[in-house]
Amino acid sequence: MAKQTQKFNAEIKQLLDIVIHSLYSQKEIFLRELISNSSDAIDKLRFQSLTHADLLPENWQPTIRLESNKEAKTLSIIDNGIGMTQSEVTEFIGTIAKSGAKAFGQLTKEMKEKPELIGQFGVGFYSAFMVADRVQLHTQKAGASEGTIWESTGDGTYSIDEAPRSEGTGTTITLHLKDLKEEGADLTEQMAGASAGSEREDQYTDHWTLKRLVKKYSDFIAYPIKLKTEKEDETLNSQKALWLKPATEVTAEEHKEFYQHLSHDFQEPLKTIHYKAEGSMEFNALLYIPTKKPWNYLSRDNNEYGLSLYVKRVFIMADCKELLPPYLRFVKGLVDSSDLSLNVSRELLQQDRQVTLIRKNVVAKILGGLKDLFTKDRTQFENFWSEFGPTLKEGLPSDSANKDRLQDILLFHSTHSDKMTSLDEYVARMKPEQKDIYYITGDNLFQVSNSPYLEKLKEKNLEVLLMVDPIDEWVVNALAEFKGKTLLSITKEGLDLDSFEEKKSKEEEKKKVSEELAPVLELMKKHLQEQVKDVVISDRLTSTPVCLVSATDEMSLQMQKILSQMGQKSGQHSKRIMEINPQHPVFKKMLSVPAAQQEQWSEILYSQALLNEGSALPDPVRFSKQIAELMVHVDFGALI
Ligand code: ADP
Repeated sequence: MAKQTQKFNAEIKQLLDIVIHSLYSQKEIFLRELISNSSDAIDKLRFQSLTHADLLPENWQPTIRLESNKEAKTLSIIDNGIGMTQSEVTEFIGTIAKSGAKAFGQLTKEMKEKPELIGQFGVGFYSAFMVADRVQLHTQKAGASEGTIWESTGDGTYSIDEAPRSEGTGTTITLHLKDLKEEGADLTEQMAGASAGSEREDQYTDHWTLKRLVKKYSDFIAYPIKLKTEKEDETLNSQKALWLKPATEVTAEEHKEFYQHLSHDFQEPLKTIHYKAEGSMEFNALLYIPTKKPWNYLSRDNNEYGLSLYVKRVFIMADCKELLPPYLRFVKGLVDSSDLSLNVSRELLQQDRQVTLIRKNVVAKILGGLKDLFTKDRTQFENFWSEFGPTLKEGLPSDSANKDRLQDILLFHSTHSDKMTSLDEYVARMKPEQKDIYYITGDNLFQVSNSPYLEKLKEKNLEVLLMVDPIDEWVVNALAEFKGKTLLSITKEGLDLDSFEEKKSKEEEKKKVSEELAPVLELMKKHLQEQVKDVVISDRLTSTPVCLVSATDEMSLQMQKILSQMGQKSGQHSKRIMEINPQHPVFKKMLSVPAAQQEQWSEILYSQALLNEGSALPDPVRFSKQIAELMVHVDFGALI
């Protein structure tokens, strides 16, 4: 095959522009990214060779080598990992592999300020262009006899050619380092005092610099990282598996570097959970809760999560889902087991009892760690909650075994204050006569906190939880009650807020009003029979004339909305009950107008109830006409 030149796709081009043109203080992370890729490639070959021993070259010693040449200003990162086929090179290196091209567009702006985000895009390879103006990759896939050479100056195109690799299986990445002098005044200023760049232009060929960088970012890499020197090759990393060290001996700095290696995140983890399980099963776990969502957290495929699995220090697989339920998918980390077999496959994992036990243990530790954060550092916990709360809440409907652990660390908005509250805190504030925990679900905080359903509860100073995440419907269903108190939706029928005495004193009046308004109720019920199941006198409204409530045994409106958004038929149109506020003067007025008008008004009132709860009107034009007509007929004399 002849050498070909191809264009980068639009996202890569944009990304390269940012990488090349942003002056960036932490350029050095390119080495971490490339060493990480090499280490992953060796992991993969080692794992595949468990079942295909023939893939391993004779006397294979997994190694990552660094070779630098001061005169030529080049640095090579060489590994004897799995390598890539030509189509893998174009697929992995020429495109943004992971989902979220759209989210990428939104993020490019942020990237300009923080190019360190680059690792998260699954394109760590491109960080090479932060320090190099030409990058060559020569790779040969395990088992193949041909190699591929990929080369680019980052200008929008790359070339691809075929050539066997003299070392056989593996990958060599050669960076033609930029002349840092060209990078202008900013850098000179940054260097404050260093003589105009002469010390830095070859910094990444300098052995001391390379040693320092490997120590700083890649010390825990499980394979030797060797630096070629004139005398003999020198191993730069200690290769200590961080997770096997006693937890007390690992420094925060080491955790940070390791977490960044695992997650491609550039921040520190919010919380680290590091422990060794002993007894019926033995394993080491090292788990991190990130500070922030990855850029593509919401758009990415939900399958992209899980812990890395090691067996006796041998990497088995990344993203092992058997070790982590989906509702903890934000957790990064690994498990290293001494009990599992090295030949364990994905299929076997699913049935493995040991794996189930490990997962149970890991989940308990993570939830315990979160509880710890909740108790000891509420602010940090709230930061966690704003990032991952909605994900964690999925655990209630999906993991009933951990209901007790989860319910204690739930946070909700409430009418009590702007601060979020836990269920325990809510219960502590309950009125002595209050039996239930009140909540309302809806689309957004503004809408629910102004909802007419809250009127009476506000008047009685009863606190209501404001639930605005779609998952909340499932959360309340799964919870049903908390420490003996029922969770009660304030948008369902029969909300009973009055005490026995209050009811008694109102009884007389209520009877009178019911009798008086009976004809109106009758007419409304008949006229609106297509829309509502019943029209009854309400006890929950103080200033709004009407509202719609769901029958206790029926799905709430919010749930119906969510289901119909998800395209499920079952979630559509079950008739609700219309409640009217007998105190509102409109109903007395209705008694005195002709039936045709009463019918018209019933429709308007029904539309208002829909608008108040944030629902769309089935026929907005008709509603507008009705209001306009009303305006024409309004008797100003009576109003003044
Ligand atoms: P990431 O490592 O986050 O997936 P990169 O852009 O760094 O993103 O690499 C893209 C892909 O290219 C990798 O997932 C891997 O499949 C392949 N790759 C990169 N470097 C190497 C290497 N040294 N050996 C084999 N494959 C590699």
